[in-house]
Amino acid sequence: MKFATCRYKGAEHLAVVQGSDLRPDHAELLLLHSSARSVLNSMQGLIEAGADGLNEIIKRVNGLDALSVSADQVSWLAPLPNPRRNIICLGWNYAEHAKESAAVKDVNIQELPTHPIIFTKATTSINGPFDDVDYDPRVSRRLDWEVELGVIIGKSGRHITVAQAYEHIFGYTVINDISARDLQKRHQQFFMGKSVDGTCPMGPWIITADEIGDPQQLDLSCKVNGVVKQQGNTRQQIFDVATTISTLSKVMTLLPGDIIATGTPSGVGFARNPPEYLQPGDVVECEVENIGSIRNKIVAVSESSF
Ligand code: MG
Repeated sequence: MKFATCRYKGAEHLAVVQGSDLRPDHAELLLLHSSARSVLNSMQGLIEAGADGLNEIIKRVNGLDALSVSADQVSWLAPLPNPRRNIICLGWNYAEHAKESAAVKDVNIQELPTHPIIFTKATTSINGPFDDVDYDPRVSRRLDWEVELGVIIGKSGRHITVAQAYEHIFGYTVINDISARDLQKRHQQFFMGKSVDGTCPMGPWIITADEIGDPQQLDLSCKVNGVVKQQGNTRQQIFDVATTISTLSKVMTLLPGDIIATGTPSGVGFARNPPEYLQPGDVVECEVENIGSIRNKIVAVSESSF
């Protein structure tokens, strides 16, 4: 199933996206009628409710206890608009991207990472799948694109083995880990450059894990103004999804609703010759096979807000 979070007539709703069409413009959504206190009022509530939550949804959909609306009647929000904690991200998780990044930094990498490189993005970086991304020259002039497969944790767990990892996945989504390269460089650690407000567009929905099967066979691509900049496949990941979950969970309890951005393939802007960065007016589109695509415009903040 596909689940989205959307705004309809001023209120936020959890919605079931019907059909197998992955074009959001064509989507029909079922908004669930739920009592004020239902855990199914939000994506977070649905994920926490586990199998019971999914069964309840199916019951309501079959019982027509839902309102059918078309995509043009709603605004799409990020599927998890207010995640409980930072988005967990992998750096240098595709060999070609590790090499292109090392070349720019004039670092000679003889070997690829032997352990995942982990950083996070602040929760306030979350942005909708079709919303504008602010370009604020006071903050950064070097915004760069990074298409990624996003993994959403379902069942919590600690010390999860690689073999058990898939049992802990609720579903998958598309993420653009937009990165302010000037801030990344200036502040050394990734956190500032990865956490600018609005630089984590995600969505348009979460597709449940059963519909994807093997997440290591998915093409992913990023286009800027219709020109392909990144093209890869998740089979090229150095640390696959199961290994990543197992590794993280050795340290921290993974929680329902945790978002993991699993790294980006080569073709990012800063590693190009000459380097390229997103400019006001640019439209950046990220797609992951069998999941969907998100599209965001870079928009200069008005001087009156300075
Ligand atoms: Mg990234």
